[in-house]
Amino acid sequence: MALVSGKQILDEAKKGKYGVGAYNVNNMEQIQAIMSAAKETKSPVIIQASRGALKYSNFTYLGYLMKAAVIENPDIPTAMHLDHGNSLESAIKAIELGFSSVMIDGSLLEDGKTPSTYDYNVKVTKSVVEYAHKAGVSVEAEIGTLGGIEDGVGSGKIHLTDPKEAKKFVDETGIDSLAIAIGTSHGAYKFKGASKLAFDVLTEIRNLIDIPIVLHGASSVPKELIEAVNKYGGKMPGASGVPIESLQEAIKLGVQKINVDTDGRLAITAAIRKVFAESPEKFDPRDYLGPARESLKELIKSKMIAFSTAGHSGDYAPISLETMKKEYK
Ligand SMILES: [Zn+2]
Repeated sequence: MALVSGKQILDEAKKGKYGVGAYNVNNMEQIQAIMSAAKETKSPVIIQASRGALKYSNFTYLGYLMKAAVIENPDIPTAMHLDHGNSLESAIKAIELGFSSVMIDGSLLEDGKTPSTYDYNVKVTKSVVEYAHKAGVSVEAEIGTLGGIEDGVGSGKIHLTDPKEAKKFVDETGIDSLAIAIGTSHGAYKFKGASKLAFDVLTEIRNLIDIPIVLHGASSVPKELIEAVNKYGGKMPGASGVPIESLQEAIKLGVQKINVDTDGRLAITAAIRKVFAESPEKFDPRDYLGPARESLKELIKSKMIAFSTAGHSGDYAPISLETMKKEYK
């Protein structure tokens, strides 16, 4: 099986100058869709579960489903990642479930809303790095805050990352990848007008730090999907996201990990609404979850191609977490 750490995938992406999507999962159909997309496009992949998703599945269920994805796809380098861990305890829980990568979001306090202090962020991040690296598991942390609320994550206010502080943070914590705030936000309503990302801040950060960079809240909220949702009874006026061209520009400027959750939710919701609207007699969950899975697979494939992840699954020999343990010493 090809479970690899997040660090291995992102270091390769950095070398190869391409991006890797990290796709959020809650259930079997999402996981299958993402893995099929990875297989068909020959892409390494990061499947990630938020704290909320793990809690929803009573923790072990989702963990086992993600492990099944790894076992079923030995040719696909796959990282199992915890999205927005908020404490050392949440990271330990994920590592015990077999995750190969964890995020500790110390940019907010444990309530997931209140912006923390720099010192708090350093302290909690360091504690996770120390624990995770002993297990060969890599660590992503965040500095600066994103806008929007997703799964209860986010302060709703945007504070762009300060490049000098980012450099200091990376040096002080020993993390493997850094999530930065350059204007993206969680959710389906990212921009009131045209989207605007602070590429100058990104460039400044890239020049100062050497580890992979992560963009959260990077769904594109495609117009076709919003139109489909609304056409079949949904109500999402004014939804907007980060255009795919902006993400490609960000990859060119040095972003490696791109978090995508909202777009997957939209693809699933649009497909299910369509079945319900067009075939009201149907009541077998497979009749709507099947099309939802197919629609999500196509969406993820298009991301893998757009981020240039496609074709890179065989570029490197996946390293086991045992090997990573030695590397971290
Ligand atoms: Zn996020």
